[in-house]
Amino acid sequence: MNDDNHYRPDTLAVRAGQRRSAEREHSEALFLTSSYVFDDAASAAAHFANEVEGNVYSRYTNPTVRNFEERLAALEGAEKAVATSSGMAAIMAIVMGHLKQGDQIICSRDVFGSTHVLLEKTIAKFGVEVAYVPLADLDAWRAALQPNTKLLYCETPSNPLAEVGDIAALAEIAHAGGALLAVDNCFCTPALQQPLKWGADLVIHSATKFIDGQGRCLGGAVVGSRELLEPVLGFVRSAGPTMSPFNAWVFLKGLETLKLRMRAHCASAAALAAWLVAQPQVEKVYYAGLPDHPGHALAAKQQSGFGAVVGFVVKGGRSAAWQVIDGCRLLSLTANLGDTKTTIVHPATTTHGRLSDDSRAAAGIVDGLIRVSVGLEDIADIQADLAAALAGLG
Ligand SMILES: *Cc1c(COP(=O)(O)O)cnc(C)c1O
Repeated sequence: MNDDNHYRPDTLAVRAGQRRSAEREHSEALFLTSSYVFDDAASAAAHFANEVEGNVYSRYTNPTVRNFEERLAALEGAEKAVATSSGMAAIMAIVMGHLKQGDQIICSRDVFGSTHVLLEKTIAKFGVEVAYVPLADLDAWRAALQPNTKLLYCETPSNPLAEVGDIAALAEIAHAGGALLAVDNCFCTPALQQPLKWGADLVIHSATKFIDGQGRCLGGAVVGSRELLEPVLGFVRSAGPTMSPFNAWVFLKGLETLKLRMRAHCASAAALAAWLVAQPQVEKVYYAGLPDHPGHALAAKQQSGFGAVVGFVVKGGRSAAWQVIDGCRLLSLTANLGDTKTTIVHPATTTHGRLSDDSRAAAGIVDGLIRVSVGLEDIADIQADLAAALAGLG
């Protein structure tokens, strides 16, 4: 199955992008090779002159990586995907491919911590300015627009409070200002949200999270049109933040079960959120699946599920939050998310610990906040673990 993208998503997830080798393997082959052999000197010259398409060197062409790229692109409804060594490398590749000195990025305020650091510490050195705005405040996005704005960048839903950005409205604002909209789709994956359908120009993934879904490999991708991915691919090709073929093979098989896993993650997260609301030690629960969450209606419109990440605030601030986390026996204390194993973390002192007190307060990351990424264990066991930990608060 090569370009048969008329199939439905569940079929594409299992079949898209596979080209059988001469060995007639049924499952996707893993090509662990750094380079490829040419038939003759003339063929080598033609490959190097870009006169023929074919495998040359695995920094930019590898059959397993291409299989992953084509399958992910099919699921996002995109022409093309470029795989990268990590989610951060995907973000770097967009900036290096599309921006230059003097350009401006408008970025949603509560992006992934390392995204913030990359923009502030590295990208800023090259004379690219960044303005931060609250994700859901469309007027703030409009007001931040400058003649030199080249990129609007957002993560929706946000981490860990599940604020929701209106992708269609942001695309309109970006395009009216001559800029591109890039959406980090790591929390939803194409199984729950396809940003290109709502007008986004580029989609970013950390495949490290739900696409692998089992906590094994780092990887990322940029998804979009052939034209917009040309400079991104150019950067990856020459700078080398390339996805390893082995990781591509793991992610490729991850995509096959992605929708089933996301459905189970969402169902358990919804059950956990509803249960947390009823606990006396819990002050507030952040989950867009809850009807009173400010992003509920928008999430219901542009997502087909509310995701796996639940934030909740316990009464008693930091010491109470730490006590609950330390009281868990089953849940893993780790900053990672998107795993079969449920993870728990204290954002204010870990993932968001690098923010100043003011920016953390503005972002709503209070000391009593706990983030859980709900895994695939039995929900009754997840709840029992948290119930015992909460009971410890008295
Ligand atoms: C993890 C993450 C990233 C970075 O991905 P890596 O694969 O760790 O480099 C980017 N965005 C979001 C939303 C993430 O959760």
